Amino acid sequence: MPALSPRSAYERARLRGTKAALDEHNRLGLQLRERIDIFEVIEDQRLWLFSQPMRDLYGAYKRSGTSGGILLNSQHPATTQRFTASHEYGHHILGHEASVDEEEQMFQSQKLIEVEAQAFAGEFLMPLQLVNYTLRTMGFDRQNPQLSPLDIYKVALELGVSYRAAVTQLTNHKKISRLLGRRFAKISPLKIKTFVGGVKPEFSWADVWILDPTQEGREFSPSLRDEIHVELPETPSTGYVWEIVDPAAEVLTYVGESFEPQGGEESIGSSGERHFLFRVITAGRGQLRLEMRRPWLEDVQPRVRFEATISSVPRLSGESGSGLSHSQREALLEEVGATQL
Ligand SMILES: [Zn+2]
Repeated sequence: MPALSPRSAYERARLRGTKAALDEHNRLGLQLRERIDIFEVIEDQRLWLFSQPMRDLYGAYKRSGTSGGILLNSQHPATTQRFTASHEYGHHILGHEASVDEEEQMFQSQKLIEVEAQAFAGEFLMPLQLVNYTLRTMGFDRQNPQLSPLDIYKVALELGVSYRAAVTQLTNHKKISRLLGRRFAKISPLKIKTFVGGVKPEFSWADVWILDPTQEGREFSPSLRDEIHVELPETPSTGYVWEIVDPAAEVLTYVGESFEPQGGEESIGSSGERHFLFRVITAGRGQLRLEMRRPWLEDVQPRVRFEATISSVPRLSGESGSGLSHSQREALLEEVGATQL
């Protein structure tokens, strides 16, 4: 039998990881129509899930009998934590004993167990069926979506993964060519976020969401400190202006607003866009509602409405910020009958 080249050993490892992820979707009976709640999957499988601040470490996995434990870096943004969690869960499903993962093990390693776990991570969070469904929901042609880096950033937000992870997996699914994939991977997410928001986000790792009329009525799942830009067309000279009716104060704080005339400062008074900026301050669920009306006329039906549900994701370990995952701690306390910590 001819010796396998390193390349084919690498490809085989990738295929093993991918197949294990697809088998796991089937085994768990997951609906591939919404972002995969990897933390819930891990907790349901009775694996211990912890987070704590760590310098260079993304995460770690250690098997213990039929169970095991997963540790994540509490200082990473939720999207990165989710991807790392999927990678560590991959180590568990693929039968590996233990792994300590820094950036190198996650993204550059040629070690076969790391290649397997990384392929698992991408496929588990971004299977083709879910990617296609998401592209369709967002109004793209799923066969030939012609995605820009900005589009990919938005798809990544929908799927709850980092921009970089989305570029890799969209390339694997042939939604973008290898050439574009390599080119897009070099663009820094901060540059995209700055472009999206017009300014750098206050917290550089926070995500920036754009809500415009095409998103009306949808539900969004940002993380703490993420920025929400609502951009709505307005023509002030008609007397109709956008007002915040319900600011989703349960989860958001209002930061500010501005009007950007179409074609720049010269054309003030003509049509343009009203930008509202909010920031996510707590975990929870709230309704964001804006109406376009003539402010001096009371009791008149608004001309247009914009509504969205904001369902922000709590931090993995709750308020304490590190330790056992919030829901496992709650479950544990309930089991031992403790009334308070
Ligand atoms: Zn690993």
